[in-house]
Order: sequence, then structure tokens, then C-alpha cells
Amino acid sequence: MASNHDNARVPFDILGLIFAHYAEGETIRFPLETLLLVCKDWNRAALGHRALWSRFRIYLGRENTSVMWKARLPQRLARCGPDCLLDIDLRNLLDLLNPEDATEETNGDELYLPLTCDPTAEWSSECDCFDIARQCAESSLSGLSGPDGALCSRWRTLRLELGHTPSRVGSRLLADALSYPTPNLRMVYLNQVCLETQATEKTVLPNTSSVLNVTLLDCELPFLHTFDDAHEAVIGWRYLVGNLTPLRALHRAKQVQTLVLWPDSSGRIQLPVQFHQLKTLHIKANYIPTELSAIEFPLLNDLAIYWDVQNPIPLILSCRGIPIENLRRITIESPFQAIEINSESEYVAASESLLALFRRATSLKDMAFSGGALAIVLKTLWDTIENGQYKGLFPSTKGSVELPWIINLDGGDAFELDGEETVESLQALCIRWLPDYDPENLVECLIESYFSLF
Ligand SMILES: [Zn+2]
Repeated sequence: MASNHDNARVPFDILGLIFAHYAEGETIRFPLETLLLVCKDWNRAALGHRALWSRFRIYLGRENTSVMWKARLPQRLARCGPDCLLDIDLRNLLDLLNPEDATEETNGDELYLPLTCDPTAEWSSECDCFDIARQCAESSLSGLSGPDGALCSRWRTLRLELGHTPSRVGSRLLADALSYPTPNLRMVYLNQVCLETQATEKTVLPNTSSVLNVTLLDCELPFLHTFDDAHEAVIGWRYLVGNLTPLRALHRAKQVQTLVLWPDSSGRIQLPVQFHQLKTLHIKANYIPTELSAIEFPLLNDLAIYWDVQNPIPLILSCRGIPIENLRRITIESPFQAIEINSESEYVAASESLLALFRRATSLKDMAFSGGALAIVLKTLWDTIENGQYKGLFPSTKGSVELPWIINLDGGDAFELDGEETVESLQALCIRWLPDYDPENLVECLIESYFSLF
């Protein structure tokens, strides 16, 4: 029978777009289930659109969020039918080490504030919500793995951010949920996921042969399988320090094209001795693993390093496997607008290392810097002009073939170096990009700005 709604009926393909858009912006307060309540047509169409229900963004905070997901998860699993591949994004926002890791949807929502909800308790104490969220995270993943792991073969992407630390690890339930073959898994993102050595001796993610993209940050997973076919990888430690278990997950991953390392001096990231496909290497901490000096990266063209306390450039220049002459882009990030420069002589050493880098990096197209590194680069350039040594950045081999751009990472602004720079033009750039640095006293500013931080 025709409904009186017929005239306003939205074509099915348009509805699909509307649903997809709604699903994209879904939050706990505006869940997908709302679509079922609009009208009968929408209800039928949404239920017929199985893939709509196959993306699980389970963000856990206060008790309400766990209660809701307990009810919703089995319904959604039923709605997505027996074949859809599953995309899982499961996070416990109460335990994350850095509240800035909250998502756009959860940021600022009181449901996810990592504080006790008991106003009479001490602010640092935990209310029941914390344990409820931890248990719900594990039972949710267990539900998504199905009986005897039957659903794991349908996992397509898996993102877990559980807020674990070596002293607060996952239980056997979590270890079991992660112990089944996942032949369709393309993407794995594990942040703060820890399992005890004794909890299980089962391999974690025993089948990773389809995983192209892997992220492992602040994890302690002694029985994690390796990701030998990954093309993109992010690995290491952002907050964890101390007795870190060596990371073996990439030690046979020779196909990696993009590698982001968060190294720490107290941990070891095992890597293959040859990265024949690697084009991009980003090192996100002020520690260059000694292993890098033994690795060959013939195709590397995009290198990013990090500088706050120790100048990383001499170590990079000593890595024989890094083809400095092929690099198209070099990035040096420094935090807080400052790097540790204690004296004029340290500035001179830093400046000389930069010039050594530039002399070898004759294919450079982009140079991107932030904070103190940018200040040193600009001063190094106008010092060479003042000393009459400047004929563009690459006077001997570069000529006019290609002119590099210098990029300010903090503002996103870029400036092309054409060889016609003057002391004044570079100092004007310094004033524009680094208002805290006085070009006339830049080294003193660098020394002061670092120590004023601490
Ligand atoms: Zn609570």
C-alpha cells in the first residue's frame, strides 16, 4: 500500500549518500540508530544497507557509554549480516595517557572526561566508571571476535587505544580475542595496548599477511606476530619509558615505503638491514637509533628528524645508508620554539652541521623547520651571506636547476630561496616567522628561550 509519504520519497542511492554522511559524523549523542526512527522508508533502507552497520567506533567514557555499547553492539553485528567486512575502532578514553589524544567527537564532552564523577572524592581517584570502561573494552572486542573467533576473518581495520601501561595490562579475554587469524585485516593501529607475558602464550594477531598499514605505539605485546608485508608503519614509544620490550614487529618488513619511528634510548626497534622500498623516514624523538647506521635506504627521499636537546644532524650524516644527496625533502622539528643551545660555540657547531648537510643534500626541493631549528637555519644562511660565502644554498652543483623552498612548519608559510637573498631579507623572514627571536641577538635568544622553559 502506498504511504502518504510517497511524494517525498528520497531515491535509494541518494539515501545511501545521506546515510554515509551521517555515519561519518556519528557521535554517541547522534548514533546511527537515529536513522531507524525517521520513518518506515528510512528504517527499511537503513536496515537494508548492511555495510552501514559494519563500522564500530566504540569510544568508552563514563558508565553510560559502556551500558549503551553493551546493548548496541550485538544489534549492530546482527544488522551488518554474515558477510560484511568489519572496521573496528575501540578506545577507552578514561585511561589514555594524554587527554589530547581524545577524538574530535569526544573532546570536551563530559561523558569522556577522565575524572571521577563523584564530586566528594579526591580528583585523582577513580570512580566505578573506570573499571566498567576497561571491562567493556575487552568484552566489546570479544563480542566482535565472535564465538571461537568466527568473526575475526571479517576484520578489515582494527584500531585499539586502551590506555594500558605495563602495570595495567589487558586480561586473558583480550588476549583471546586477539589470538585468531585475521586474513582480511588491512590496517592495524594499536596504541597503549599491553598484555602480560604470562596472560597467554598465544600469538597476538597470528595472521597479518594482508596488513599494509601498521601503527604500534606504547604497546607491550610480547607475543605479537610480525608484519612482514606492511607498506606503511609507525612504531615506537611516545610516553612509555623504562624497561621497554624490544619491538620485533617490523624486523622482516622489507616492503615498507613510509616509516615513522618514535625511538627511545631504553628500547630497541628491530628493523631489516635493507629498506629497498623506503621513501619516507620520519624520526619523531631526539634519539637516533644506532641500528640506522647499518641500514641501507637507497630510495629514501623524505627525511624528518627531531631536535630539542641534542643536535641530530651529525649522527644522520654518519649513517652511510642514508643517501643525503638524493633527499628531496628534509624536515627538522623542534618543540616549544626552542632547542638546547647553551653557548655561542654550540651555535657555531650546529650551524656548521647544517651547512655540511646542505652541501651534501644537492637534490633538496623542500626544507621544513620549526621553532629553534628554523631560527638556526635562518641565521646560518645570513651569516654565510655576511661572510661572503653565499651564492644560493647550493653554489657549486645546484646552479639554477632547481631552487629549494624553506617552509615554516609552525605557520605553514613557505619562501623560495633564489640565491638573491640578502641579510635583510632573511632577517625580515625571521621577524615574520619567529617574532620571539631578535635577529640581532639570535644566539642569546636561543640560549634564553630554552632555559626559560625549565
Ligand atoms: Zn564515574
